[in-house]
This record gives sequence, C-alpha cells and structure tokens, in this order.
Amino acid sequence: MNKIGILTSGGDAPGMNACVRAVVRVSISNNVEVMGIQGGYLGLIEKDFIEMGPRSVSNIIQRGGTILKSSRCEDFKRGDGRKKAANNLNEAGIEGLIVIGGDGTFQGAKKLGDEWDIKVIGIPGTIDNDIYGTDLTIGFDTAVNTARDAVDKIRDTAGSHDRQFIVEVMGRHAGFIALEVGMSCGAEEILIPEIKTDLNKIAQRIMEGRLKGKTSYIIIVAEGDEEGDAFEISHKLHKITGLEYKVCVLGHIQRGGAPTATDRILGTKLGIWAVEHLINGESGKMIGEVGGKPLLTPFEETWKKKKHIEEMYMDWIKILSV
Ligand code: ADP
Repeated sequence: MNKIGILTSGGDAPGMNACVRAVVRVSISNNVEVMGIQGGYLGLIEKDFIEMGPRSVSNIIQRGGTILKSSRCEDFKRGDGRKKAANNLNEAGIEGLIVIGGDGTFQGAKKLGDEWDIKVIGIPGTIDNDIYGTDLTIGFDTAVNTARDAVDKIRDTAGSHDRQFIVEVMGRHAGFIALEVGMSCGAEEILIPEIKTDLNKIAQRIMEGRLKGKTSYIIIVAEGDEEGDAFEISHKLHKITGLEYKVCVLGHIQRGGAPTATDRILGTKLGIWAVEHLINGESGKMIGEVGGKPLLTPFEETWKKKKHIEEMYMDWIKILSV
C-alpha cells in the first residue's frame, strides 16, 4: 500500500487530533503517503484532499476538536454519493482509508468498502462510549472529566443553598457518561436510557433523605432518559415532592477542551494499530482496545452488538447516598 486517506466524521471528540497525528507519522515511517480528507464524508465526495506530512500534525496532540474538520453528510447515505467518493479515491491513488467516528461513520464505511472494494479500517471516536468492541472510545474520558468538573462546582453551590440539582449530560442512546460522572461526583441519583426510571421511587428517596438530614441532592440525567430531559424531570419531581429543582444542561462543553492523557494515549495507540492493520491487508473492521490489547471487530458488530453497561453502579449509588 503506497497511499492512504484519513478522515474524521460525525460528532467530534477530544483525542481525535492525537489519533490523526499518530496515523500520519506512523504511515510516513512505513513509507506510506497520507492524504487528509477534510470535513468527513463530505470531503470524500467533494474531493477536499490535502497532502499530510509530519509537520502538518505538529502541535495538535493537546488540542480538542479535529484539525481535519467533521460533518454530517446526507449525500454519503446514497449510492451515488458513495460512487463519487470511490471515484475520487481511485483518481487520487488512495488505496486504503482510515475513518475516525461513531457507529454512523462505520455504517457508511462498511457500505463504501463492500460496494467499491475499498479497504477501510475504523477507529472509535465519540464521547458517548457506546461502541461495541472497545473498552473506551476516543473522547469519552475527556467528556466525563469535563462534566465531573462542572458537577463538582454545582455541588458547592447546591450545598451552600440546600438545593436539589438536576444536571443533564450527553447520551441520547447511552448512559455511559451519566454513570461515570455520577459515580465520580457522588451523585445521589443517575438516570439513564438503559434502565427504567421510577420517579416515584426517586421522589421517595429524596424525601427520606431530607428526614435523615440530607439538605442537597444531585441527580445526573442522560439526555435520552425515557422520562424526558432535565426540565421535564424537574417538573415531574416538583409535582410529586413539592420541592424546587435547579436544572443545568451541560451540552456541548462536554465535546470540547484539551483531551485528557487517557484520550491522547488511546488516540495514539488506535492510530498506530489502525495503520499497521490496514497496510497488512485488513479491512471492513474497527480497531479497538480491550483489556489493553488491540482487537479488530467487523463493522457490523460494532453497532449490532450491545456494549455492557455497569448496572451495578446504580445499586452502589443507592447504597452510597444514604
Ligand atoms: P457518528 O459517526 O458519530 O455516529 P453520524 O451518525 O452523524 O455520526 O454519522 C456520520 C456520517 O456517516 C453521516 O453524516 C453520514 O455521512 C454517514 N452515515 C451514517 N449512517 C449511514 C448509513 N446508514 N449509510 C451510509 N452512510 C452513513
């Protein structure tokens, strides 16, 4: 393999740049040229390619976001869009592709690879951590620490004013961020889409807590909880308990910021392993890290199989918030 392409797609995640840096430099050390494809799949269709050398990835390991830019590209979901992308890759002499993104990105990569016989390796980059085949996805650790830092600050004011706070974190389909933030902040309750939420029981625990001298209460809600967003939940809990709940929606701050050491190292490892496997002829798979070791998982399994969530955390939270 003489030339490969690299792109970042879907939601950006801190640590993507560390990964791009590793991909570029390891490729070059293996005498493989690298083209950066800008703006995800849109850049593939519009042939927005740039040559990348060791210096084009200088001073980015510590930066959040992605220097290659990302996008949501509807045209890539259609066969004619992918045909254009495949033609552009062929014309540019790009023989293999590395895509960094989430399950949507992998669904697109699988179709491109199957339809046009293009070798593709995926790298899991999403703050949600909801991808099967890797212990962690790039960006998750940073997002958790950003939210943890915010909740620590909220706890100061909640404690000073004897208030109930509901903090909404990202996770439309997955509660991984909510669970880790809740555990690391000593939250009293965690509400996630994977586990049915019983607001009457939560209300009961809040009122019992007050009788036992608890004056403030922190509830972490994943945005995709079936009882609604943080505002809806605050209204529902207010109706049952008569108490006021302050709401804080952390939103996109969880996507940004300098990546933690964990995300920089994960991005670097996955980038190196992706290049090694791609130039050894692997394709149609995602490279993940499981138990400290590289693991290839066929694209389809990454979204069809469910990643295990630590449900025992929920029991521990109840025990620890007495
Ligand atoms: P993520 O990769 O973070 O899950 P998206 O779901 O937005 O983010 O997917 C990123 C891009 O991947 C989409 O904008 C689209 O171009 C492509 N994509 C997503 N799903 C498909 C699909 N089923 N078929 C083809 N391409 C897809």
